[in-house]
Amino acid sequence: MNDSTLAQRLEAVRERINSAASNSGRSAKDIELIIVTKNHSAALPIELLDLGETQFGENKDQEASPKAKEVEYVRPGLATWHFVGQLQSNKVRSVLEYASCIHSLDRDSLLKELVKQLAKDTEKRIQVFLELNLTDDPNRGGLDPKDLSRFAELVMAQPQIQLLGVMGVVGLDVEPAVDFERIAKASAELVSLDPAAKFISAGMSGDFEEALGFGATHLRIGTAITGNR
Ligand SMILES: *Cc1c(COP(=O)(O)O)cnc(C)c1O
Repeated sequence: MNDSTLAQRLEAVRERINSAASNSGRSAKDIELIIVTKNHSAALPIELLDLGETQFGENKDQEASPKAKEVEYVRPGLATWHFVGQLQSNKVRSVLEYASCIHSLDRDSLLKELVKQLAKDTEKRIQVFLELNLTDDPNRGGLDPKDLSRFAELVMAQPQIQLLGVMGVVGLDVEPAVDFERIAKASAELVSLDPAAKFISAGMSGDFEEALGFGATHLRIGTAITGNR
């Protein structure tokens, strides 16, 4: 891995996505690859843009905001940014400046702040995934899956917010299949309320092939492509 180049690692992951997609009877065209560039400088997404990749994920606003601005300056109009980490309400205004999609909408107070910031510009739109908490620990980010329908109705009532689907991070101490199954169930529940909210943000470096078998549409892959840092 240390001797491989970024282009080689990217190609290897793309090939794995292609074969895992076809193994589950799906087309790789329907799978979005979001490359998580956290812990790396702007040089990495710039190199990835030059390799044809355009979707990047970040999990901390303090790091993402200057990085996204630098990338925009060097390669204007090419990158799409996904905010995938825990989001504090006081960062919403900043995140809206660069992100097109927030994968971690998970509570009423955060929705309220999002609506408040969006109201400042009625033309502004944001895509969101509702993040599920798959653990028993209420302090972990994410929505209690039992609260999904109630919360989804609030989000669906917001004209500036486009609800894409559910997002989950599988627990370290469980069989990934168990959590992917729960994510898939939550997705089916959401689709019954809103057929357009059919996308699933799940799958990381260690488990994306399995995630594809459970219907993941938006893979968030970091180290398998970017290397360790
Ligand atoms: C870091 C991160 C990823 C990518 O993790 P890798 O294991 O490096 O692929 C995906 N999703 C979230 C929410 C992350 O914070």
